[in-house]
Amino acid sequence: MIPVNEPLFNGKEKEYLNECIETGWVGSDGPFVRKFEENMASYIGRRYAVAVTNGTAALELAVVALGIGPRDEVILPAFTIISCAQAIVKAGAKPVLVDSDYYTFNMKVEDIEKKITPMTKAIMIVHIFGLPVDMDPILELAKKYNLKIIEDAAEMHGQTYNGKKCGSFGDISIFSFYPNKHITTGEGGMVLMDDEKLYERCKSLRNLCFSNDPKKRFIHEEIGWNLRMSNLQAALGLAQLERIDKIIEKKRWIGRKYQELLKDIEVINLPIDKTDYSENIYWVFGITLKDYYPKNAQEVMEELSKYGIGTRPFFYPMHKQPVFSRMGLFLNENYPNAEKLYDRGFYIPSGLALTEEQIVKVSEILHEVLR
Ligand SMILES: *Cc1c(COP(=O)(O)O)cnc(C)c1O
Repeated sequence: MIPVNEPLFNGKEKEYLNECIETGWVGSDGPFVRKFEENMASYIGRRYAVAVTNGTAALELAVVALGIGPRDEVILPAFTIISCAQAIVKAGAKPVLVDSDYYTFNMKVEDIEKKITPMTKAIMIVHIFGLPVDMDPILELAKKYNLKIIEDAAEMHGQTYNGKKCGSFGDISIFSFYPNKHITTGEGGMVLMDDEKLYERCKSLRNLCFSNDPKKRFIHEEIGWNLRMSNLQAALGLAQLERIDKIIEKKRWIGRKYQELLKDIEVINLPIDKTDYSENIYWVFGITLKDYYPKNAQEVMEELSKYGIGTRPFFYPMHKQPVFSRMGLFLNENYPNAEKLYDRGFYIPSGLALTEEQIVKVSEILHEVLR
């Protein structure tokens, strides 16, 4: 079996984990947490970073920290993970969807302005699979309508847009360190920002809004969460951040290998390798079956699994989620590309531990199955 993802720990991970155990620093007050935050902030080019328990929590924190709540609207893509929409819903605000481009997988920038109303507070942009969202027009809209930007860069560690790092564009930007991300802490996430007040607010919300005054420690003015990252997790993350350039190089190498080996399969669309503003970082290698091909993604994935090839379907669009329909959200709305991406798309093994031999094997089997 070639799994869809397998992480790779070939740096100082063990050394740093040992240090946690030997020093007794396993909790969130340990030195690796601060160091990981500082190094991420400096790598992405932000003033502040707040490490949290996962990317989903990072989004929830971001929405609440920006003061978004009941009667506010936030625009986001229909084609994304549920974490994005649920962060908005849980804050009591209304998620407003736009469709995505079928080939970049990213939200259609030209559809955003039509969705702006007097209630709109923010645009949640999500960079999907490997190419960044076209940021310039969105930054202009944000300025014109005085909107906040929440940037979900969970899949984009090290990716750039016109030379500037993803994760540096949002009023708040977030990363995930789930095991299939470029950097993993097992579970983990981070929020980044430049505004000091926002930073203080995020730290407070992360830590149950304990009072800063030691005499009033257990007296709370507000409700937060416990979203603290442990020193053990940060130790893992820090070790990988030290070799992020190698990680990105490997991801792009995997992507280019697949491009070369799969280019002759006529019935599939391969991901876009380059746009005007970026080079694909191939977080995952996502392909779509052309319209005329008689089978859908589900059927092809089942066949591939018989050959021992791990795959994952694309995201199921937000407007089709039963949980949101029951809440009366997105009823009778249509986002045809998001729907088609789910029906036609899947991704193939793209984890950091993937070997050349495995890439060749996956490619041969794809040729066989899609003949
Ligand atoms: C992985 C991911 C998340 C969620 O991160 P978790 O750490 O798994 O909670 C959010 N947004 C996007 C785009 C992701 O890919």
